[in-house]
Amino acid sequence: MRQLFVLLASAAVVCAAPVAPVAAAPHADTVDLNVPTQLPRNAVPHHYAITITPHAEALGFDGTVAIDLDVTKPTRTLTLNAANLTIARASLGGRGAPLPATVSNDENGQTATFDFGRTVAPGAYRLTIDYSGKINTQANGLFALDYKNPAGAQKRAIFTQFEPADARRFIPSWDEPDYKATFDLTARVPADQMAVGNMPVASSRPLAGGLKEVKFQTTPTMSSYLLFFGSGEFGRITKMAGKTETGIVMGRGNEAKARTALDAEAEILPYYNQYFGTPYPLPKLDNVAGPGQSQFFSAMENWGSIFTFERVLLDDPAVTTDRERQAIFGVEAHEMAHQWFGDLVTMAWWDDLWLNEGFASWMATKATKHFHPDWGAEFGAVGAREGAMGQDSLFTTHPIVQHIRTVEQANQAFDGITYSKGESVISMLEGYASPATWQRGIQAYIRAHQYQNTRTDDLWRAVEAAGAKGLTQIAHDFTLQPGVPLIRVGAVTCAAGQSHVTLTQDEFSADRKPGSFTPLSWHVPLRVAAIGGRPVTVVTSGRETQVTVPGCGPILVNAGQTGYYRSLYPAAAAEQLRASFSRVDPVDQYGLVLDQQALSRAGYQPMGIALDFTAAIPASSPPELSALGLGVWTGLYETFDGDKAAQAQIAAIIEQRYAPMLAQIGLTPKAGENPTVGTFRPQLIAALGNVGDPQVTAEARRLFAALQTNPNAVPGGLKRTWLGIVAAKADAATWDQLHAMARNASSATERQNLYSLLGSAEDEALAKRALDLSLTDEPGKTVSAGIIGAVARQHPDLALDFVLAHWPQVQNFVDLSAQSRFIGRIASGSHNAATIAKLDAYANANIAPTARKPVDQAINVIKVRLASEARIKSEAGEWLRAHPAGAPAAPAAPAPSPTERG
Ligand SMILES: [Zn+2]
Repeated sequence: MRQLFVLLASAAVVCAAPVAPVAAAPHADTVDLNVPTQLPRNAVPHHYAITITPHAEALGFDGTVAIDLDVTKPTRTLTLNAANLTIARASLGGRGAPLPATVSNDENGQTATFDFGRTVAPGAYRLTIDYSGKINTQANGLFALDYKNPAGAQKRAIFTQFEPADARRFIPSWDEPDYKATFDLTARVPADQMAVGNMPVASSRPLAGGLKEVKFQTTPTMSSYLLFFGSGEFGRITKMAGKTETGIVMGRGNEAKARTALDAEAEILPYYNQYFGTPYPLPKLDNVAGPGQSQFFSAMENWGSIFTFERVLLDDPAVTTDRERQAIFGVEAHEMAHQWFGDLVTMAWWDDLWLNEGFASWMATKATKHFHPDWGAEFGAVGAREGAMGQDSLFTTHPIVQHIRTVEQANQAFDGITYSKGESVISMLEGYASPATWQRGIQAYIRAHQYQNTRTDDLWRAVEAAGAKGLTQIAHDFTLQPGVPLIRVGAVTCAAGQSHVTLTQDEFSADRKPGSFTPLSWHVPLRVAAIGGRPVTVVTSGRETQVTVPGCGPILVNAGQTGYYRSLYPAAAAEQLRASFSRVDPVDQYGLVLDQQALSRAGYQPMGIALDFTAAIPASSPPELSALGLGVWTGLYETFDGDKAAQAQIAAIIEQRYAPMLAQIGLTPKAGENPTVGTFRPQLIAALGNVGDPQVTAEARRLFAALQTNPNAVPGGLKRTWLGIVAAKADAATWDQLHAMARNASSATERQNLYSLLGSAEDEALAKRALDLSLTDEPGKTVSAGIIGAVARQHPDLALDFVLAHWPQVQNFVDLSAQSRFIGRIASGSHNAATIAKLDAYANANIAPTARKPVDQAINVIKVRLASEARIKSEAGEWLRAHPAGAPAAPAAPAPSPTERG
């Protein structure tokens, strides 16, 4: 639901000499007329000169913009995007007296139409507009974030967030990605603040009233959604990376916490310059930290001025976990990849959003593997693929390339398919092309299209031209069709040292029974190996594919786990694979465990097969793999919620396998330990606490008591883990203590963490108190939605009822861009059939049919859960009864040594 104000602008049309162009169309019209657009194609902007005066305390701003444009067809009106702006006056300048405009607004279309009273001839003009707008309290358009500085004083900083379609809340503009232009930004801000833009400051001069006027250098040609402006009591630290000044901008006093991010930025930039073959073109690259959070995004790739929420950018020893510290690198690597893929070369329209997001996600994984080979990014990529397949195996999915018609559809396009399926498909295509060929194609693509817009096919053409013959066909199958291929492995025969196997293609579905639908068909690049043998690559064509691989032994499909498909083995072959599990690469073990889980949960095979694979994870595995196994057991424990006997048995499995691992790595981080041990420790502690392990539970209570008098009683990176155990099992007195800690927290991030923990109580009465608290002013504008989200993880129905009952208030906590998915996300954990009807009724009453996909997805997830739960429990229960001593005895090999790096 978007509330737009009616714009009542009416400059009287005075008689003047007919305006004429200053020159006859000096610029070519480079806008692709085939791109879907809501704006009439009668003009092209080339340059915006914007002057902004924010009134941060009053949550408003005044603006003036002069837009140099070409009128390309005779027209009496120009229509621009504008949302929530009040336009005071506008005129069109050329040769002769300027033509004043009468302005009318279309709230739903988010446009303003300027009528000049007579036909304007094609040519070059300047459209000047005086207007005012709002400063929002969620991250849309120009927005404010309130925080306490390190001295405890209340402060307000302002920032902008424009993707996908909110530059129109800041400037009347052609706010569509293919209308690229240059931007001059001038801002009048308090003299003691730092103003930040895409480009370095060109000049600054004092103004009356304690203000200063800051002018930024002209940007390169770029899309409007990449414009950035921020102002506040900032500090900035910098480091040169080649010719580029990299910088982190943060609340004054937080400089030391920005060092990790700055080092990463300066390290990644030269690597990308080399990879893309076109050096980063701006003189500086800042990453601006903002306190608070969004329900929509954590960071944004504004060209030259990335914006990132503090919790994802600052490294605070008091709160930052090892995983979050790694995420600082990963998120920066993602946003920095966009400086080329998205900013320098931009998708023509949101249909191809995945080109930005899939590519940046893939590139971030590549950079992480390059700089931090011991962080386990290869496992993370398989995990991301699994997340995408989860969404992609429901009928509510969509193809990677999808048709976007509305702003709301553009908002919804930022999802797991766009990001993670995009990343996985690119990995698969890079593997098919070979990394060197792929890189040559990317470099040619960037060179050919820099400062312009592209469609997905431009990329395929470039990579094919670099030598990847046949790539376009595979790419089309995976980007234009939805869904997950299923490769059914047939009987294997072995002769003369070679294995022959027939692979049959099908489509994996989690919500439709095989045979009840016509499966789609793909050209799937398969990597098949006999265990221990050399893998063979073959592209499926049609339903059946014969493969011959060297060696005899169990067959492994998707060797290396770069393929986007599932593989279903006959029971005997699956058992052979399981029996040879220790001879399979860890990343393949990881993929196999996930595949078996999904296949069993969807009913393609009994749950017992999946649990056999999980139980086969060796105790001496890398932490990522142990963590996966722990996640599976924990998930099963939750599935049996309410069945005390089954839960006790699963708890015993978890304690028997994982308590020794925790004992071995220790409760506190050790200098020099493998980074993946550091990221595994919190999960171990949390999972053992969750099943009531007595030692972990006692330690959590002890540390909680110690924290009351000594804030350093717990290592910062483990604080949330230990407090999480206490918060989940909290009674009223404990909850009150946590509440006091939240109120007194010194940093914005710690504050958010503690308020969210208040929402994680298992006790329903306490969960209700947390919900009531979220509606008060106490947590702060961007924290309340996080509390509701935390309640929804334990009590989805309670949270949904609350949100539906208080939607007008809750709505204020959620960014406009995330509102349509917020309700679905809150409810999707429900086990209650009545929730389906509630969601449906909500969507029917409040959401346009074109925008209800997130709610339909949540409904579908709940339906699938309800339809499969009884079978999953029955089959898993059977397996548990057959394994009364828990999992099959695992070899008692030690967990990785804390000092071992690898
Ligand atoms: Zn991105």
